[in-house]
Amino acid sequence: THFGFQTVPSSSKQSRVANVFTSVASSYDTMNDLMSLGTHRLWKDYFVRSINPGTRDCEEGKGKGQTILDIAGGTGDIAFRMLEHCTVVNKDHASKIIVSDINPDMLAEGKRRAREGGHDHSGRLSWLEANAENLHTISDNSIDLYTVAFGIRNFTSKALALREAFRVLKPGGVFACLEFSKVNNRLVEALYKRWSFGAIPLIGQLVAGDRESYQYLVESIERFPGQEELKGMIEEAGFLLPGGEEGKGWEDLMGGIACVHKGVKP
Ligand code: SAM
Repeated sequence: THFGFQTVPSSSKQSRVANVFTSVASSYDTMNDLMSLGTHRLWKDYFVRSINPGTRDCEEGKGKGQTILDIAGGTGDIAFRMLEHCTVVNKDHASKIIVSDINPDMLAEGKRRAREGGHDHSGRLSWLEANAENLHTISDNSIDLYTVAFGIRNFTSKALALREAFRVLKPGGVFACLEFSKVNNRLVEALYKRWSFGAIPLIGQLVAGDRESYQYLVESIERFPGQEELKGMIEEAGFLLPGGEEGKGWEDLMGGIACVHKGVKP
């Protein structure tokens, strides 16, 4: 495939990714906090605010709300935030979220957190084990909002996943992606490189007892296409950029350490 994965055949990449996340599922949240010095929470909060999930018309009990699909939803971090946003900001008690992930251990951890954290009182969350590149159990034109946070860089074929995103979204539906990206500031870059290549594998070794998986995560971030290239792939799949022709298609967070890309299905 493209983008630096040439040396790894698809099937072995897939099982490699699955293994990485199986080995990190239970320590996943602690590790996220340590590795990002807590900033992943701010990025996720921002991401959810910026997509504004849910609809206002539910307030009078009329609207049906949205059907939201959170791909590579892992332990539910994005889904829980979206549910909260629907309910608190939009007074929407109707929208439903499907949390989908390829890894059953991550989903199991998510379900446990949903139960224990009281995130789902009314069955608005459902859980689906699926590969983002093949969402055959989800019908065409059935989803209002498709989200993927820190997931797309792990997909063997991003193009296939984007095509599936396009297929399942309704016309007018929104694709939103949060992912690590290319830092566009020299100073941030120097600090970031030291941190990611020096500290992260070490933290992985000390906290999760697994240096190799975290080394892999750092490398997968390094290999991931930059802002412009990902935007091109989103357009290639048929999406329009939210701001129309003039729209840039993405928004950098912290100098490009992370980035939000959006597309709209025409
Ligand atoms: N979205 C969550 C978050 O932001 O905390 C989890 C992100 S985690 C870094 C990446 C997730 O992608 C893992 O749960 C992994 O199992 C999942 N994943 C990797 N490849 C996938 C694929 N092809 N299809 C669906 N999920 C995949």
